[in-house]
Amino acid sequence: MLENVAIDASGAIVFFNKICIDGHSNGCFIRFVTHVHSDHTVNLSKSLLLCKHISGTPITLDLLDVLGYSIPKIKKLPLNYDQLLEFENIRIRLYYSDHIPGSAQVSVEKEGILLAYTGDFKNPGSKTVIIKEPHVLIIDATYGDPIYVREGEDIIWQKFVELVKKLLSQGSISMYAYYGKAHEVMMKLREYGIDAPFLLSHSHWKVHRVLERYGYRIQDVFPSGSRESEEVRKTGWFIEVNHISSAKNYRNTSFHIILTGRFAKTIYRLNSSNTWIVGISGHADFNDIIYYVDESKPHLLIVDASRSSYAEKFASIVEEQLGIKSMVMPKTIF
Ligand SMILES: [Zn+2]
Repeated sequence: MLENVAIDASGAIVFFNKICIDGHSNGCFIRFVTHVHSDHTVNLSKSLLLCKHISGTPITLDLLDVLGYSIPKIKKLPLNYDQLLEFENIRIRLYYSDHIPGSAQVSVEKEGILLAYTGDFKNPGSKTVIIKEPHVLIIDATYGDPIYVREGEDIIWQKFVELVKKLLSQGSISMYAYYGKAHEVMMKLREYGIDAPFLLSHSHWKVHRVLERYGYRIQDVFPSGSRESEEVRKTGWFIEVNHISSAKNYRNTSFHIILTGRFAKTIYRLNSSNTWIVGISGHADFNDIIYYVDESKPHLLIVDASRSSYAEKFASIVEEQLGIKSMVMPKTIF
């Protein structure tokens, strides 16, 4: 079985020596991208050169385009959730995962052997589909340590909305977030009745335009630098949305909110400054990951250590508590 599965040090997941997921390995015929976060687009430029096809959900492929990966049309292979892709004697499917727009899990079956990779996910069972009884399941264990058990999501959202309301009553806000997370937050704020205009950075704006085509609609959104955005700026009542990588270059707004997946505290103020750190994670917490494994019942669990520091610990807990054979790949990461 193990000859059919590998995770290399760069984070490439390789099934049957010819299907690469979220990384590149020589000899791969097709490269899948589970979602557009940068730890899952590793070496995509190599795959663009060397693989016959680049595949993912239609949203993911469109987002890759606007984020600067120009995938030749002839190589693009969009695959919807649950749609079957068959080549030679291999059957591939993508399954829904609740993480960011377009994110997917991948299952690959050949001669009765079913291999699966979850990618990043949260809310297994209620939103994220649980892939049942694969021979090998590769799982993301970002929060694979029992210390990572968090409050219910609704409670965190409520606290976050209260903070945003309070700050908006005193001035403008700059938020800093990853792709996908920013959109989840903007949609949630609208749901909670916050109607301050959003001013988006160039890259978030491009992502927004793609997501809009797929039905993620948000009212009163403007690209930073546009004439409308300058008008909005003069009112002093707006929320600016930037990529998290620009959190160090604070713009001229009254308050700053950095959105991370941290657990330590869900919301805290940085040294009584005008900056708040808000932890709204896109990843399952420890209990949710255990739940996925328990419901999935793989013959063998492989914990992805290339994207998690708790892989060893999680694998040993699964063996102990669920009696499911578990191991970690790759073995050493530095
Ligand atoms: Zn992610």
